[in-house]
Amino acid sequence: MILYPHLDVNTAGHLSIDGADAVALAREFGTPAYILCEDVIRENCRTYLNAARRAFGPDALPLYASKALCFTAVYKLVAEEGLGVDCVSGGELYTALRAGFPAERIYFHGNNKTDADLQMALDMGVGTVVADNCDELEALEALAAKAGKTQRILLRITPGIDPHTHRAISTGHVDSKFGSAIVTGQAMEISRLALSKKHLVLAGFHCHVGSQIFDVEPFRDAAHIMLQFIADVKTETGFAATELNLGGGLGVPYTEYDRKIDYAAVIAEIGEIVRERSAALGIVAPRIILEPGRSLVAAAGVTLYTVGSVKQIPGFRNYVSVDGGMPDNPRYALYQSQYTALVANRAGEPRDFVATVAGRCCESGDLIGEGMALQKPSRGDILAVLTTGAYNYAMASNYNRLPRPPVVMVKKGEARLAVKRETFEDLVRNDCE
Ligand SMILES: *Cc1c(COP(=O)(O)O)cnc(C)c1O
Repeated sequence: MILYPHLDVNTAGHLSIDGADAVALAREFGTPAYILCEDVIRENCRTYLNAARRAFGPDALPLYASKALCFTAVYKLVAEEGLGVDCVSGGELYTALRAGFPAERIYFHGNNKTDADLQMALDMGVGTVVADNCDELEALEALAAKAGKTQRILLRITPGIDPHTHRAISTGHVDSKFGSAIVTGQAMEISRLALSKKHLVLAGFHCHVGSQIFDVEPFRDAAHIMLQFIADVKTETGFAATELNLGGGLGVPYTEYDRKIDYAAVIAEIGEIVRERSAALGIVAPRIILEPGRSLVAAAGVTLYTVGSVKQIPGFRNYVSVDGGMPDNPRYALYQSQYTALVANRAGEPRDFVATVAGRCCESGDLIGEGMALQKPSRGDILAVLTTGAYNYAMASNYNRLPRPPVVMVKKGEARLAVKRETFEDLVRNDCE
């Protein structure tokens, strides 16, 4: 096992990904390529669904935060597993609907939904719109009135919690582009406004405190603050919220030094906290929704590259350049995110060569990682970067006019194409003469 049980070394000494030989996958599908283990995503969905039902009751509905990894086959898979999804754009809504995802199980997020987005949500019959601010509420009310529809909504609230992670991915602060803060009084204000709208049905509240969280504490703090807010809203307006969405954010191990989380145990603990606090506050415990992204899909992904130049700068460092980089994985450039990498065709050998893995773009910051321990590679080797299922394909760009890699789904050793590799023809498709 290498980091996760579905990753191992086979008898050829190659990395195997749920029974499929990584070197053979690279040969068949080319590089760079995203490999994705279907059963890892399915198992994670089941872990969340079963734990949520045990902790929150039979109507519990975990949502997959589909911004983490979004294409048709993923929506189909998540629909089959019985989860809901959260979408944050017209493009995600379109993909979900086209994949046959049940509209009533979609939650529509975003701090700046356009009128076109809101209209699309109304037309499609999206189950719940998570309204971010008063302007959006007014726009949604007007569009719903015009369409003669009523729309179920949650309100996004900022509880003001620093989850002690990277600031750029911490979104629960008061000073945030997301939601309405409780401490400034704006959360109460938007609640009153929502309750006054004829075409909007307020079900409850949403918060999301951050990402790559390894402790239950931020969720406990968020639950305490949000339940207190629900009690205060009830006192002030008489409205009893029936749903509380505590967001996503549970972390995954990217390196052997990262902690592993027992998701079911954390969810059980959140259930306890909600029951106990609700009883103490004298309110009916709301239905709890969680919306994991990363923790459902990150571990399932491996990116395969072909090694190009290997450069040793005496007295400085070693550079290993690969045929992809920040266009297929911008996370090191954005957040200095750590990854584990290895040479897939010599996976059984010790990783005793320390290198900076660089991409092929004309940009010094185009790195996959620094100080990475690898088998000493040479030109033509296959480099595997692990745990790339979340926020890699989803964040991919065509920088330097590089076509986006394909996504290959692997299940028990069998591989199938889920997203085709882009061609040069695709790159110029929308260019006008
Ligand atoms: C990004 C996001 C999530 C998912 O976060 P993960 O860290 O991937 O679990 C859930 N809810 C909202 C509102 C988000 O913005």
